Amino acid sequence: MWFCSVASIKVISSLNQVQQINMSRVFVDEQLSWVIQAKCVLDDAQIPCYIKNEFASSTAGEVPFLETWPELWVHKQTDSIRAKQLIDAWQATLKATQDTTFEPWKCSQCGELNEGNFALCWSCGKVLDPITD
Ligand SMILES: [Zn+2]
Repeated sequence: MWFCSVASIKVISSLNQVQQINMSRVFVDEQLSWVIQAKCVLDDAQIPCYIKNEFASSTAGEVPFLETWPELWVHKQTDSIRAKQLIDAWQATLKATQDTTFEPWKCSQCGELNEGNFALCWSCGKVLDPITD
């Protein structure tokens, strides 16, 4: 996810003033790291895009804060629907990962209660079998 070149983002963002008419904003987040990851999702799909406000956090406090948040734009408006679908799918995957909680489980061999993230019983070493345990 982190292969994209920051240098190329800087070059492209200096051109954005001229081309903005046909471009489309597809993602905004307070955290630049999320915007960079979203850009990598689009980079993987070969959708040309760039980050706006990447270096704007130093102006926070002088302009309304929402205007200083990093934004991800696609160069072609025709790419925006597909870009949003890809970002939605990426966010859904992230959320699914975060929502996964592991229930504590009781060892079927010794009866000990184990933390949900344990793959085997801490007490007797029996490996958790999700089907029988
Ligand atoms: Zn056990």
